[in-house]
Amino acid sequence: MAEKRDYYEVLGVNKNAGEEEIKKAYRRLAKQYHPDMNKDSPDAEEKFKEVNEAYSVLSDSDKRAKYDAYGHAGVDPSYGGGAGFGGFSDFGFDVGDVFSSFFGGFGSQSARRSGPRRGEDVSARVAISFEEAAFGVKKEVSFNRIENCETCHGAGTADGSAPTTCGKCHGTGQVRVQQRTVLGVMQTVAPCDACNGTGKIIKNPCKTCSGSGRVRRARKFEVSIPAGIDDGQRVVGRGQGNVGVQGGPSGDLIVLVSVRPHAVFDREGVNLYCEVPVTFAEACLGASIRVPTLEGETEFKIPEGTQTGTLFTLKNKGIVRVNTKNRGDLYFRVIVEIPRNLSAAQKELLSRFADSCGEKNHSKKKNFAAKVKAAFK
Ligand SMILES: [Zn+2]
Ligand SMILES: [Zn+2]
Repeated sequence: MAEKRDYYEVLGVNKNAGEEEIKKAYRRLAKQYHPDMNKDSPDAEEKFKEVNEAYSVLSDSDKRAKYDAYGHAGVDPSYGGGAGFGGFSDFGFDVGDVFSSFFGGFGSQSARRSGPRRGEDVSARVAISFEEAAFGVKKEVSFNRIENCETCHGAGTADGSAPTTCGKCHGTGQVRVQQRTVLGVMQTVAPCDACNGTGKIIKNPCKTCSGSGRVRRARKFEVSIPAGIDDGQRVVGRGQGNVGVQGGPSGDLIVLVSVRPHAVFDREGVNLYCEVPVTFAEACLGASIRVPTLEGETEFKIPEGTQTGTLFTLKNKGIVRVNTKNRGDLYFRVIVEIPRNLSAAQKELLSRFADSCGEKNHSKKKNFAAKVKAAFK
């Protein structure tokens, strides 16, 4: 993230500037950088935005206090590593209480009071077979999610009455707290203890949901897993997550798919790999062998003199690329199995065969011998 300029510096005022002074500085700069007045200057729009941002913080006493205490991280949750606020734990001295109340209030509670909010995503896992991944499958997954309480329809009250606004925080869900800390006296924001940060007081809470208006429910959902999905990929059930707050949209159900390995095939992307053993005689004489594919076995002719380790390709017999009709290929490697447990008669036959062999039957051996000879001359 680009280094953000100090808001006081942006407005050209000092840290003790009063409201009037800040307003004046803002008006002057806003006019100076207004995009309508600066059609030829591409920087002006950025400057204009910067000035507006600085003013929106410094003109609000609440935000200004946070900015003074924590800098940009205090007013912009995306600043300084996002919601984790990891940096603050590294201060090396104990500011736990202040920071936890501050960030508690800043994170969850202030979001709660700020009108409609999307529900959180929920997650589930499903394990499928290799073939199911290859061809696609519908699976029922079980998960828990937060829904509006059916008894009170999300209102939280037992008698259907609307909750009343909290008198302590006037419905904001937050109260300002002055605290003396190692950093000096700081004004921080904490969730209101009278209403638990909700901004609302429910005198006669619904028995089903204890006044929260929300309940946790176990649900099942049938997910369509597309052909070609791979181990570790996700499928999303749009709108199947936690219900939104104050009319906000529901979150999503994120289903993590794990694919069980196959007995024969390995998979890399959309391509399949396997090894097919053949006999010594098949490799020597050439043969029609049976090769496994996802659709069952298929015949394949290997030529006379096929070497062990030779890789053959069956085009378009791999896995389909998700949401397309394109398929990868199937690669199979022929492994020549050297016969074991020969009978005396078989050994006799093979010896006679070996005696009949000459250099033209074993060109590799001949070439290798020639190389070795040349190398050690
Ligand atoms: Zn209820
Ligand atoms: Zn309150």
